[in-house]
Amino acid sequence: MKNKLLETVYSPQNFQKEGHQLIDILTNHLDDKLYEKSGKAIHWNDPEDELEFWKEFLKNGDDNELFKTITDRTTYVHHPNCIGHQVTPTAPITALSGMISSLLNNGMAVYEMGMSPNAIERVVTDLLCKKIGWDEEARGFLTSGGTLANLTALLTARRTILKEDIWNNGIENPIGIMVSEEAHYCVDRAARIMGLGEKGIIKIPCTESFQMDIDILEKKHAEAISKGITIFAIIGSAPSTATGAFDDLESIGEFARKHGLWFHVDGAHGGAGIFSEKYKTTLKGIEQADSVVIDGHKMMMLPTITTALLLKNGIYANATFSQKADYLLTESDHEDWYNSGKRTFECTKTMMCIYWYTMLKRYGEEVFDAYVTQLYDMGNTFGEIIQNHTSFKLAVKPMANIVCFRYYDSKLTQIQLNNLNAKIRQLLLEDGEFYIVQTKLRGWHYLRVTVMNPFTTKEHFDKLLQKIITIGQKLNAQEPIIY
Ligand SMILES: *Cc1c(COP(=O)(O)O)cnc(C)c1O
Repeated sequence: MKNKLLETVYSPQNFQKEGHQLIDILTNHLDDKLYEKSGKAIHWNDPEDELEFWKEFLKNGDDNELFKTITDRTTYVHHPNCIGHQVTPTAPITALSGMISSLLNNGMAVYEMGMSPNAIERVVTDLLCKKIGWDEEARGFLTSGGTLANLTALLTARRTILKEDIWNNGIENPIGIMVSEEAHYCVDRAARIMGLGEKGIIKIPCTESFQMDIDILEKKHAEAISKGITIFAIIGSAPSTATGAFDDLESIGEFARKHGLWFHVDGAHGGAGIFSEKYKTTLKGIEQADSVVIDGHKMMMLPTITTALLLKNGIYANATFSQKADYLLTESDHEDWYNSGKRTFECTKTMMCIYWYTMLKRYGEEVFDAYVTQLYDMGNTFGEIIQNHTSFKLAVKPMANIVCFRYYDSKLTQIQLNNLNAKIRQLLLEDGEFYIVQTKLRGWHYLRVTVMNPFTTKEHFDKLLQKIITIGQKLNAQEPIIY
């Protein structure tokens, strides 16, 4: 090769040398964070400063420090105090699988561009379908995230349930879906992308415990029909993101059957509960669903981004993006599961299936049971601590590993408490020892914790609460109180 630069880029020797160095950096990082040998849960920096830093680094930074600098200056999901968002601390072995995917770069859209991953994906998704409780008609595929998977499921639902050929002709008559007001915002977004508009998103109010209120489904359905809207799907959250509340999937399934609707379960977070002997009851009724979404990068220890979209009747997946309306007649005798691009929104995608397969091969499916069970247990433990604490109030008893609570002082008004909790969260972020998030529920500002790390213990919770109390008291003591 004539071009020296490209020769350097592809040098196997360079790759080996840097690879070993990188493994050392990441091993130290893991050891450091997991066992809290040094450092915080987040290295907070103002966005503008961070931007300046990376502009400057591109010009003058030490090339040899690149990997280490990226690793050091960010959010550490492997730290037991990192209990904010629902992203998993990856099982280290999957980072190694990720290297295979990145280097081999099998695009997967057609079989020849990913023979092993296409077959492996079938093995993984078949196993997930079986765990849900479906028969051999069921099929699934992996796709880039819960957001895209929910959109894809709703496209399949629309294609399957409605008589009109909207894929080819566009929307001519108003159509809609039913979904809880607590559902993840991506469902709303998917519906808008599909052209349903605001009026096509029938929001079902929740009960006290933030679950879809089953008792008003009939009324809401009838209301929509009377406005000329044809409902084609209903979505259950398992659980919803903000509070971790599971909808009653059994009742939603029954309602869907009665009205001929597609029943979709957004199990991006909690779908992995199918593996937990102790907590699979949270998903009671999931087997009635027509489609289910499960994120691997949330409750399954896999790197971002890998999501399973599973269908009770797999043949419908072939229809989603098919131009031909009579797909079932022409293609049903030749299933063609191995050309994954036919069923996914993506054309090219990563070999994401190897993360799942590596975990199954190395540790067996009991590893997912162990993980989900441990985290839900810790969610409950944290909930109990809060419930018994006079300085805190729980939003709702946790059903999973998501806990919403607020610092409480009976002398303060709602507005003061809201401002105080918002301030506490900001100070926690800037401090960085703990990383937690926040949410608004029925006008109240809540602090929100998601236990994603199996190394997070009761001692970590105690320390967090102590820290919040100290901050709260300090803010409270400041004169005048101007929250
Ligand atoms: C996280 C989440 C999503 C979005 O999934 P991404 O993988 O982040 O795109 C959708 N629904 C629920 C219930 C979630 O918790």
